[in-house]
Amino acid sequence: MADSDKKKSHESSMKELLRAIPKVDEFLGWVDHIQAPVRFVKGCVREVINAEREFILGGKLKDLADLGRETLVAKFEKRLQAKLTPSFRTVINATGVIVHTNMGRSLLPVEAMDNLVKVGSHYSNLEFDLSTGKRGSRYSLVEELLCEITGAEAGLVVNNNAAAVLLVLDTLAKGREVVVSRGQLVEIGGSFRIPAVMEKSGAFLREVGATNRTHVKDYEEAINEQTALLLKVHMSNYRIIGFTSEVSLPDLVALGKKHALPVVEDLGSGSFIDLSRFGLEKEPTVGETIKAGVDVVTFSGDKLLGGPQAGLILGKKEIIGRIKKNPLNRALRIDKFTLAGLESILRLYVDEELAEKHIPTLAMMAMSPEMVNKRALKLVRRVKKALGDKCDVATVDTMSRVGGGAMPEQDLPSRAVALRPRMMRLNELEKRLRDNSLPVIGRIEDEALLLDMRTVAEDEVVQLSQALLTVFEVEDV
Ligand SMILES: *Cc1c(COP(=O)(O)O)cnc(C)c1O
Repeated sequence: MADSDKKKSHESSMKELLRAIPKVDEFLGWVDHIQAPVRFVKGCVREVINAEREFILGGKLKDLADLGRETLVAKFEKRLQAKLTPSFRTVINATGVIVHTNMGRSLLPVEAMDNLVKVGSHYSNLEFDLSTGKRGSRYSLVEELLCEITGAEAGLVVNNNAAAVLLVLDTLAKGREVVVSRGQLVEIGGSFRIPAVMEKSGAFLREVGATNRTHVKDYEEAINEQTALLLKVHMSNYRIIGFTSEVSLPDLVALGKKHALPVVEDLGSGSFIDLSRFGLEKEPTVGETIKAGVDVVTFSGDKLLGGPQAGLILGKKEIIGRIKKNPLNRALRIDKFTLAGLESILRLYVDEELAEKHIPTLAMMAMSPEMVNKRALKLVRRVKKALGDKCDVATVDTMSRVGGGAMPEQDLPSRAVALRPRMMRLNELEKRLRDNSLPVIGRIEDEALLLDMRTVAEDEVVQLSQALLTVFEVEDV
């Protein structure tokens, strides 16, 4: 008895609640002073109404007072604000990961951005040869520079390095075999797997050696009349340690010569300059790889190079000529913005000093811990007093990462601002910073939220300090 009574009264109150939801037109009348595209306004009104109905039916809303005009309009405004905020926006990367794949990898220098703006808003000679007045090739605009910097005979550029590898294999090895060391069958983030790309290209993978050790004779024994090329792949994001051996590029080149087979190397990151100058492990540069006699080398434009997303393919003239003629090339081509950004970057690389100063990826790698510390102290000075006992603020030693699947185990000594909030949990602080109008992304370590200042630009320090005051609900002082 008592039970059915309860059920009845609950039902009637649910009906009452449902009746209290405003009609669309009534709600629209409440918000018709708000300046926003009509379809967004209508959409948000419907969303709020539907959400309230769901709440009531789900038994989550029981109080008529929760359906008041002010409450509903506030909910509407929150939804509208979210719709009006661009989905694709800038963030402050305080993770210390320089080539952060999830945050856009490399930043372009202002020189490159100026060029992008120019070609974006004006006609250009993208495929128009100004000396002959005839149709030209978009690659010719950067090919000469690429050859100048690396010593390659020829080159072309496609959408990204995954496309570069696909195009090279499709051109040179379709229906034939490609010999690769077992230890180099890597998977890079975002579903790039050497065996899968190989399959897509129609080439057949011929794995040789053991996971940890591969010798010249392993390659040699695998060579037969079906062999199209010998492929070397940079291990990028992992490393085999202990009892290991891989065949060096010069040995592979010698073997290729002996059997008249092209040797291709997927360098992954690929750098034009020797990174040991930043205290990183020595890796062969693109120029050194070319010099070692490789027939084709591929690498990304936006990893260690610090340019726009692109896949660069350099090598011997005859082979590159065949790759250029592959119809697949048309489907993988770069757009004018990439080309504009890339040319600016390459012009900086003509002078290494200039490149190191102006290309953000390189400049961040080059920053000494002392310089990073200066930036960290600048942030501390701006917020410590204002945050007072709401949060403990201090500078600490930390390690930055090159990132981008490049140089997996290599860290750069750095300095971070460590935040230890006293009145909220670390996860809450992390979330609030992420939800800020200019999102700030740090990392939680040792019971603190660390803001590694290596990847925070000088002109972002003010915005970062403002974000901290906002999330701690402190007035600017
Ligand atoms: C990163 C990487 C790729 C993929 O390059 P994208 O430019 O991201 O397409 C391919 N091969 C290796 C070895 C890599 O490190």
